[in-house]
Amino acid sequence: MSDKILVIGEMRDGTLRNVSFEAIAAAKKIDDQAEIVGVVLGDEDLEAQATEMIYYGADRAVALKNEKLKLYTPEGYSQALMRVIEKEAPAGIVMGHTAAGKDLTPKIASKLGTGLISDVTEIESDGDQPVFIRPIYSGKAFEKKVITDGITFVTIRPNNIAALKADSSRTGDVLVEDVEITDLRTVIKDVIRKASEGVDLSEASVIVSGGRGVKSADGFKPLYELAEVLGGAVGASRGACDADYCDYSLQIGQTGKVVTPDLYIAVGISGAIQHLAGMSNSKVIVAINKDPEANIFNVADYGIVGDLFEVIPLLIEEIKEIKK
Ligand code: FAD
Repeated sequence: MSDKILVIGEMRDGTLRNVSFEAIAAAKKIDDQAEIVGVVLGDEDLEAQATEMIYYGADRAVALKNEKLKLYTPEGYSQALMRVIEKEAPAGIVMGHTAAGKDLTPKIASKLGTGLISDVTEIESDGDQPVFIRPIYSGKAFEKKVITDGITFVTIRPNNIAALKADSSRTGDVLVEDVEITDLRTVIKDVIRKASEGVDLSEASVIVSGGRGVKSADGFKPLYELAEVLGGAVGASRGACDADYCDYSLQIGQTGKVVTPDLYIAVGISGAIQHLAGMSNSKVIVAINKDPEANIFNVADYGIVGDLFEVIPLLIEEIKEIKK
């Protein structure tokens, strides 16, 4: 492969999301000899973020600046990125498989007339060639893919490829560039956020997830408490969302969020295939269910058969004791 890989950083509230740094580590797995160029986009104060890309392993960074890049739009971002791609002529491009990554990368791949391997969870080497591993059939199987022609363009699933340790002594060129963007056909006037507290579900390393077994919105309270002592976030099955015990923004699964935390605690969740599609790649799975035959135990590393309303308070107490 040629000598340059672009890594597209993703910003949220002015800070780079962790998946941006994981994408740098992925680029190094693709070709550890390549020059890694971090790319950040926004409307102001981009130098610090571009420099952070270097701390996490990029050799240099380009910050693309325009007021139309303040908020993500596929049209604005693809225009800006096409300019940098044309200028840099990279052999590879890596971005997170996030909502923006899923939206943007097929658009760019089609403009470039190149292929795209999305939702990569692991990268192996087959001699000279990187081999990309990605889940298929809702996580029931994995496929291994190689790129035979064109740019090595991939998106990586957050929380799967570990970021390198930040090293603030690393240096590299940071170029802040005003990029030209034509009038956008759709303009975001305002973003109204749903109020949410605590750790962001998609980036949480610990998730305590409740199902229909939690029985009510009040039944979620001990789960919030457990998540808090573990420094994690609360998720849910669709069963719990449909029953109105919690908001749909917590839903994990085929039609919800796909998460890969270090620890996933499934509480009162039966383990339907559509739920497993969103969490079965978690590093350690603990299931708490009163039915010993529940399917969730088939994917769990540790299972507790019991009533969640008895088990969760004991767990909270025990964890608080250990943390003392
Ligand atoms: P249930 O299946 O009712 O399980 C409740 C569990 O709680 C049971 O195992 C029970 O033993 C246990 N329990 C009850 N009381 C207690 C107690 N006191 N202590 C301990 N355990 C207890 N589902 C998703 O989650 N995410 C999706 O994205 C999703 N997408 C879907 C897409 C489609 C097209 C379809 C058709 C379905 C989808 N579903 C999804 C729904 C899915 O099929 C299941 O219906 C849903 O996951 C069930 O939720 P549940 O496990 O909370 O409820």
